[in-house]
Amino acid sequence: MDGLHSLGAVTAEIFGLPLEGQTVQESKPLRTEDETQGPPLKPLVFRVDESTPGLVQSVLLERGWDKFDEQRQDVEDWNLYWRSSSFRRAEYVNVKPWQRLNHHPGMTNLTRKDCLAKHLARMRSRYGESLYEFTPLTFIMPTDYTKFVAKYFKEKQDLGTKPSYWICKPAELSRGRGIIIFSDIRDLMFKGTYVVQKYICNPLLVGRYKCDLRIYVCITGFKPLTIYMYQEGLVRFATEKFDLSNLEDYYSHLTNSSINKLGASYQKIKEVVGQGCKWTLSRFFSYLRNWDVDDLLLRQKISHMVILTVLAMAPSVPVAYNCFELFGFDILIDDNLKPWLLEVNYNPALTLDCSTDESVKRSLVHDVIELLYLNGLRSEEKKCGRTPGNSVVSLARSDQHEFCATPNSSSYASLIQFTTGSKSDPAVQNSCPKHTRTSQLREMMSRQDRLLTKEAAKSKPRHKAWHLPRKTVFPYASQSQPHKMKGPAGDLPEAESTPNDHAGNFVLIFPFNKATFGASRNGLNVKRIIQELQKLMNK
Ligand code: ADP
Repeated sequence: MDGLHSLGAVTAEIFGLPLEGQTVQESKPLRTEDETQGPPLKPLVFRVDESTPGLVQSVLLERGWDKFDEQRQDVEDWNLYWRSSSFRRAEYVNVKPWQRLNHHPGMTNLTRKDCLAKHLARMRSRYGESLYEFTPLTFIMPTDYTKFVAKYFKEKQDLGTKPSYWICKPAELSRGRGIIIFSDIRDLMFKGTYVVQKYICNPLLVGRYKCDLRIYVCITGFKPLTIYMYQEGLVRFATEKFDLSNLEDYYSHLTNSSINKLGASYQKIKEVVGQGCKWTLSRFFSYLRNWDVDDLLLRQKISHMVILTVLAMAPSVPVAYNCFELFGFDILIDDNLKPWLLEVNYNPALTLDCSTDESVKRSLVHDVIELLYLNGLRSEEKKCGRTPGNSVVSLARSDQHEFCATPNSSSYASLIQFTTGSKSDPAVQNSCPKHTRTSQLREMMSRQDRLLTKEAAKSKPRHKAWHLPRKTVFPYASQSQPHKMKGPAGDLPEAESTPNDHAGNFVLIFPFNKATFGASRNGLNVKRIIQELQKLMNK
């Protein structure tokens, strides 16, 4: 299935936009609101609190959304609630079919350093060391203190006079707070829950500076599991030269920008790195290509790592509908080009500290919104009990808002049922008067406008190396021979429509072939998925 195309085609039909093969000039102009039948389109509404990043608000306003006003609007009168803190159980339970929440319950299993370590250790013992060797050896303190001491002295003996290096990090803090790096166990101090991890002492250096990658990952649903990885991202640099003889210099060993932007060398033009402490991911990969590094292979390794990490906790995630989660995976590349997972961030920073942030994060937020409305929440289809081949237009309230109500008010369906060919179902059309869809159409129009603007500007794909053709391809399945899977019209039952392969710069990384698609439909068959991943990795 080609979601972008099918959505585009249906929207095009509705609004007289160009279809594939038509040029922009040939197309009919967009109809104005006055020309459409029914009442004028109402904008979608976003809800925020004091923790919501300013960038999110500004992008949504830019896209024509309205900000929720508690005084003037009904308490349920919003479509997206984006905030930094997690939602309460009641908020998950009471979410309405027309609403989306930017957090999924149970995510600390991935984002708390001790929980992540536990889950990955369990997977390592079940599926083998070699598959899960992408995290540095980790001990959870105080529980594993004795084990750590034994390992420390064993290693000391093996290394003789050579030092071994460790890093100690608070389980729950972020931004480099409370971290110590040590080679002498007498320097280890902790109070509360910490992780002690093998310090990667051979990082890939750019100039002579350490760096790590911030990879954005969006999970649009856990049931079934659907993972997208962002093609663009950030590379974060330390601002002092890497120096193992001075473990106390955080500007040399930590790559957090919250630390390095305060460093004395932040503004200096540094060897190869230049000014500041950030590059875009595409700049980094093009730098590597100049050194004959196979950046595509590196990207594939990273995507496998992301899938394996999510698989470690996905089966234990509580069922919740209408949620999505944007994560920041921190990945360090060593001088053998092996990627290491350092941690997974909840609420990856969306502050704009420099022009690199501006170019990456603004598009990121736009693409998250595109992803939401393009991909829909497939798990909902199941909940609303749609039958194969039927598209349900059962979304929401018929009063103030524009979405349709069905007799069964507990029904859920994708916000973008148009992508699944619902227009061909007359029963569905009859149950949904035209004017009730306008809010959805508003978002589609806004996207179509953006697509048209881009097309008109004849801009090149932003990241050519990752640009995908408009057909259903599992981009990370294999470098040489991408697996192709037929969409609803092909060899899969119609109800089992595949997720869109990309939205903006987000690329689908899971499911990545027909087998993993099948193994994630009715519950998650982790063993089967891992077999498929192993096949891929052994190629
Ligand atoms: P925080 O949540 O505080 O940012 P991280 O685990 O991301 O904690 O660590 C902060 C920084 O410390 C990383 O960005 C990286 O530069 C460095 N770091 C963390 N763990 C390791 C490690 N095992 N080896 C080398 N460097 C590390």
